[in-house]
Amino acid sequence: MRDSRSQKTYHIVIVLIFNTFLEIVLEMTSRFIRSISSSRCDGKSENEMNNGDEESGKYPLATILSMRGGDGHNSYSTNSLLQRRVLSMTKPILVKNTKEMMTNLDFPKCIKLADLGCSSGQNTFTAMSDIVNTIIALCEESNKNPPEIDCCLNDLSGNDFNMTFKFLTFFNDKLTSKIPCFVSGVPGSFYSRLFPRKSLHFVHSNYSLHYLSKVPDGLEKNKMSVYITGSSLPSEHKAYLNQFQKDFTTFLRMRSEEVVSNGRMVLTLIGRKTLDDPLYRDCCHWLTLLSDSLRDLVFEGLVSASKVSSFKVPFYDPNGDEVKELIRNEGSFMVNDLETHIFDLGLSNEEYGLQSDRAKAGEKEANCIRAVTETMLVAYFGDAINIATLFEKYAHHVSQHASCKNKTSVSLVVSLIRK
Ligand code: SAH
Repeated sequence: MRDSRSQKTYHIVIVLIFNTFLEIVLEMTSRFIRSISSSRCDGKSENEMNNGDEESGKYPLATILSMRGGDGHNSYSTNSLLQRRVLSMTKPILVKNTKEMMTNLDFPKCIKLADLGCSSGQNTFTAMSDIVNTIIALCEESNKNPPEIDCCLNDLSGNDFNMTFKFLTFFNDKLTSKIPCFVSGVPGSFYSRLFPRKSLHFVHSNYSLHYLSKVPDGLEKNKMSVYITGSSLPSEHKAYLNQFQKDFTTFLRMRSEEVVSNGRMVLTLIGRKTLDDPLYRDCCHWLTLLSDSLRDLVFEGLVSASKVSSFKVPFYDPNGDEVKELIRNEGSFMVNDLETHIFDLGLSNEEYGLQSDRAKAGEKEANCIRAVTETMLVAYFGDAINIATLFEKYAHHVSQHASCKNKTSVSLVVSLIRK
């Protein structure tokens, strides 16, 4: 009797051990299958591999363009006030286009919004809440039930999405009424497909589309300038313009597949004034100051000239006509609004006399530029330069230009309607 009971217990223990072993094997097998289906030997995720040309190996900048993550002193989330100022300047266009989209689409029951190049600060939620609050107010005014809203936040896979989602409470607090709002992250390049066909009602993008998918081919490699300057060759401008034309057209083509008919896009990017010399960039352009600071390191023997001269930033600041022409040629969208906003970045006349204010302004601007360029600089230079030293130089150059009369930033805002 005792023997048969102890035999039973023995059996049960064996079965339990076997089951646990089986579970472990199954879990490991499924993890293995998941890992081989979601990552490739070249380190790209499935999402990145399936999304068209720029992501399939020809797009090495996918992670290095990301802003500095976290919420530390040098992070993007702490240093994105300039982009926030731009957002408040473009709010009237955002509100107007949101209202027009809702009425033209006859108050859809479910709205899908996307913010492209959302980064890791609170700004994306400022823009999303402006759109959602406009929808809420319009529905109240028109006696309609508010829709369910899908808020999709996109950025490159290297973006600190964890930091972005820490601002979720900030978003909920900004909403004027509690409506069903679902927030998700969409990693990938906006120069590739990101969403299912005809699924988006409204696309927003702030200060992201001036980044190119790659450094243009055919740039002069022996000049210590990271971007176009007044002394660049016209061929250099042509190379940047060509790359922008290719990228912006790809962007429009991808979105044309994803946006519903009569859906809208509001895009804001760094631009140039319309009637200027294509090579002209003012003396205190952020990339001119970055070139000056890198050159200081070369003169002090802290980095080699050849290393600096082959570093170029994948960026282009188009004028309104260049953008309009590309939209017309691509053909899927109609331009609704196109505005050029210029705002002063310099100190006022009273302020710039004070040495301490000039130094403070220099430090502040250097921190902003550091937050947006550090990942790229570290990826290219590695240990070859000291980032803190570079941005001390940058702060000094900014302070030297604090009194510049032409220290302005030009933003292009364009709103588009899917035909
Ligand atoms: N819209 C935000 C962030 C602007 S910073 C704001 O207003 O504060 C620019 C962002 O664009 C960065 O986070 C960068 O990673 C992203 N970006 C650059 N190229 C991109 C691309 N091809 N696809 C998606 N995001 C991109």
